[in-house]
Amino acid sequence: MAKIKFCGAAQTVTGSSHLITLDDGTKILLDCGLYQGNEDKYDNFNRQWEFDPSEIDYMILSHAHIDHSGRIPKLSKDGYKGDIICTSATRDLASIMLMDSAYIQEKDVVYLNKRKERLGLKPVEALYTIEDARNCMDQFIGIGYNRWYRINDDLSVRFRDSGHILGSASVTVRIKKEEGYYKYIGFTGDIGRPDRPILRDPVPMDDVDYLICESTYGGKSHGGIPDNKQELLDVIHHTCVEKRGKLIIPAFSVGTDTRDRIHVGPARNRR
Ligand SMILES: [Zn+2]
Repeated sequence: MAKIKFCGAAQTVTGSSHLITLDDGTKILLDCGLYQGNEDKYDNFNRQWEFDPSEIDYMILSHAHIDHSGRIPKLSKDGYKGDIICTSATRDLASIMLMDSAYIQEKDVVYLNKRKERLGLKPVEALYTIEDARNCMDQFIGIGYNRWYRINDDLSVRFRDSGHILGSASVTVRIKKEEGYYKYIGFTGDIGRPDRPILRDPVPMDDVDYLICESTYGGKSHGGIPDNKQELLDVIHHTCVEKRGKLIIPAFSVGTDTRDRIHVGPARNRR
């Protein structure tokens, strides 16, 4: 029916990317994430492709997190010319995040090349530049949740809210086999939890014939929100009250984890 190749986020948790090749040769790429980690065996992951970018027909993006979207500027730079289909909010968020990622790539390579120079090694190019990130945004198509979007005569896609971050979606690809007869491939993307503030609850996916499922915390059971809050309060109490230590809050991430919802006002407002 189709071939699926896992090109990332298999036996590791970042660099999500899955290639579906349909019987007629149509190639669909689900996500195009950056590997974010420092395991030696993934050293070249971000620089090499498991496929030829120019041979991909369509790309579908589940959400804007960099481990799912972070190699899109490179995909475009290396020859992908087609549409990048995602929700409208993912498109907006990706436009900010990919520019930021490009800025980091440019800075990282300056640092890396200084070290290489000292060791007498050849310099490397940035994975992609701010200009590459800006260019790839022209390929993004933002659509709404819940409606089938017709990609071509035989292929449609539908997004359901996956409750993970702003714009995040599960993806159902509908493939027409013959008139009135379809096959469905589902990709969960990252799945959020219900009863979170701000975000809507995840919506169940369509019934599918084949399912690619995120399983990052598959072996763990989560505590509920009240547990999270109490846990956080305990850590703050232990650090700041009992040990009279400092509380440092990194607030650069995208998401709505409990930790992101602590508001720290500017210094002049604190007394
Ligand atoms: Zn995510």
